[in-house]
Amino acid sequence: VTLGATHNNAAAAAGAAVPVQPQQHRRLEGKVAIVTGGARGIGEAIVRAFVLQGARVVIADIDDAAGEALAAALGGACCSYVHCDVSVEADVERAVGCCVARYGRLDVLCNNAGVLGRQAPPAGTGAKSGGIASLDAAEFDRVLRVNTLGAALGMKHAARAMLQRRGGCGGGSIVSVASVAGVLGGMGPHAYTASKHALVGLTKNAACELGEHGIRVNCVSPFGVATPMLVNAWRHGNHGEDEEGGAPAPVSAEEVEKAEEMVRGMATLKGPTLRADDIAEAALFLASDESGYISGHNLVVDGGVTTSRNVIG
Ligand code: NAD
Repeated sequence: VTLGATHNNAAAAAGAAVPVQPQQHRRLEGKVAIVTGGARGIGEAIVRAFVLQGARVVIADIDDAAGEALAAALGGACCSYVHCDVSVEADVERAVGCCVARYGRLDVLCNNAGVLGRQAPPAGTGAKSGGIASLDAAEFDRVLRVNTLGAALGMKHAARAMLQRRGGCGGGSIVSVASVAGVLGGMGPHAYTASKHALVGLTKNAACELGEHGIRVNCVSPFGVATPMLVNAWRHGNHGEDEEGGAPAPVSAEEVEKAEEMVRGMATLKGPTLRADDIAEAALFLASDESGYISGHNLVVDGGVTTSRNVIG
C-alpha cells in the first residue's frame, strides 16, 4: 500500500507537480518495535518485515533458542531478543523496559504471541472442535491468559512507555494479531475463539481510550497460515496443540504444503495461498504512519472467508 501514489495521482490529474519519492523510503524508518511471539511463524515474518522497513525490533518470546537465533541473524544493532512470557506481567514490564533502555523509545507494539490450546473432542462425533461439555477449566484459563490477558498487559506497559514520551502525547501504534476466530464461531477450540473475540473487543476499548494521546490500536485477523500452530493442530484433528506451552514437534515441508492445500480448499478467494508474509504486510501497514487515521479497526486478512455465507463450520 502506498498512500503517496493516490495523492500523486490526484496531484497529476490537477496538473500540479508530482512530488518525487525518496528512492529508498523505508516505512518504519527510525521506529522502535516489540513483537511478541516473534521467534517463529507469523511473528517471525512480522519481525523480518519491520526490520527490512527500517525499525529496530525487540523479539519477546518464550522460545529462547529460536528468538536469539533470529535476532542474531538479523543483526544486533537492529534486532534483539528478550525472554518474555506474555501472560506474566513482570516479564512484559521487563521486555518494555529492556526495549526502552536499549533503543531509547517504543513506537510500535505487536501483540502476536498466541496459543491455540487443547480441547478434547466430543466422543464419537467426529466434530472439528471439542465439546463444551468436556471443557477443561485450567486449559481455558491458560489460553485466555496468553491470548487476551497477554495482549492487555502488552498494551498496558507499551502505553505507559509511549505516554512517557514527549510529555504524554507521544503517539504510537499497537497492533494485535487476532484471528478469523475472533469474528466467527466454529473456527477453533472454544477457549481460542473466546480469547480472540475478547482481543478484538479489547482493541476497540483501548483505541477509544488511547486515541486522545495519539496512540492508535488495531488488530489483524488472519485466516489459516501454515505455521507450526496450524500444522500441529491438524495433526491432532483440529483439537489443538500437543504439548502444553512448549514448542510443537518440527514441521516438515510436506506438512506445510498439505496444510496450505487444505487452507486453499477452504478459502473463498481461489488462487493465492495465504502466507505469513501477507499478515506481516497488514501488520506493517497498521504499524506505519501510512495508516495514521486508522484506529479501533480489525483488518481481516482472509480472502473473503468471513464475508461468505459458505464458511467452514
Ligand atoms: P506459532 O505457534 O507458529 O508461533 C507462536 C509464537 O508465539 C511462538 O514463537 C511461541 O514461542 C510464541 N509464544 C507462545 N506462547 C507465548 C507466551 N506465553 N509468551 C510469549 N510468546 C509465546 O503460531 P502462529 O501461527 O505464528 O500464530 C501467531 C499468532 O497468529 C497467534 O496469535 C495466533 O493465534 C494468530 N493466528 C494464527 C493463524 C494461523 O493459521 N497460523 C490464524 C489466525 C490467527
